[in-house]
Amino acid sequence: MENFEFHGPSTLDEAQAAMRAATDGKFMAGGQSLLPVMKLDLAAPSDVISLAAIEALGGIGADGTMVTIGAAVTHAEVHESDAVRQAIPALADLAGGIGDPQVRNRGTIGGAVAHADPAADYPAALVALGATVVTDRREISAEDFFQGMFETPLEDDEIITAVRFPVPEKAAYTKFASQASGYAIAGVMVAGGDAGIRVAVTGAGSCVFRVTAMEEALAGDFSASALQGIAVDSGDLISDPDASAEYRAHLVGVMARRAVEACG
Ligand SMILES: Cc1cc2nc3c(=O)[nH]c(=O)nc-3n(C[C@H](O)[C@H](O)[C@H](O)COP(=O)(O)OP(=O)(O)OC[C@H]3O[C@@H](n4cnc5c(N)ncnc54)[C@H](O)[C@@H]3O)c2cc1C
Repeated sequence: MENFEFHGPSTLDEAQAAMRAATDGKFMAGGQSLLPVMKLDLAAPSDVISLAAIEALGGIGADGTMVTIGAAVTHAEVHESDAVRQAIPALADLAGGIGDPQVRNRGTIGGAVAHADPAADYPAALVALGATVVTDRREISAEDFFQGMFETPLEDDEIITAVRFPVPEKAAYTKFASQASGYAIAGVMVAGGDAGIRVAVTGAGSCVFRVTAMEEALAGDFSASALQGIAVDSGDLISDPDASAEYRAHLVGVMARRAVEACG
């Protein structure tokens, strides 16, 4: 790992000033994705600007129709939050299935969303639930936010401040996880609410995606059997040592049916 300057700002303004003054700065939240990348020398920022001490990025709010989670809220806090569990139990469960206790106690929702790892769990929840990513300068719908593998519309100096989730009528997330890391080999969130039925898949492709054929079938008949025979095209999926594209396509069908059953 290369040397870098460390900054610990306590306000968004200070964080942005540190970023503007840096040659090649990087924000850090929990460090659970950034530090491994730096240790492998795949990133060598001149300055690391920690967001951990910025109070404005914390907190969970719920008002019956919306749950707002501050960017610096950890996966463990989402999992343990009564407000999240009451409003969107599937989201609390998803957070509790991320990685291991260390990752859940350090990693944050803002970091996971900004990193946009194709195998991360949160992207499926954001897209299926129709969430909004709130930054220091704008609001971006989840579907516009995840643009490709590790690709988002965030500017270099833009900070995610929160993620806002509409409360669904029903939702469930199931994943077939890598035994080594917990990352999704295929993960599916099914949700139903004001925006209709949504089926969002993570882990299987290079970016989270919706399966409209499944959504249409579920709109007519919300049952696992309605999904029989609906397959995603393996040509669009990832093959790696964990699983072939064909196996991932099979897993998407299985995970989707299990998620529908889990919606109750
Ligand atoms: C062993 C291991 C297992 C894991 N298993 C899983 C898993 O099963 N499922 C899963 O989903 N994830 C998994 N992860 C990833 C984990 O969820 C990370 O916590 C997450 O990807 C990054 O969050 P972080 O807060 O640590 O962000 P960091 O590592 O600090 O930052 C990641 C990136 O986001 C940027 N960033 C951070 N916060 C903000 C912000 N507020 N605004 C703008 N940019 C920001 C940083 O600049 C950096 O580019 C795993 C990680 C490890 C190490």
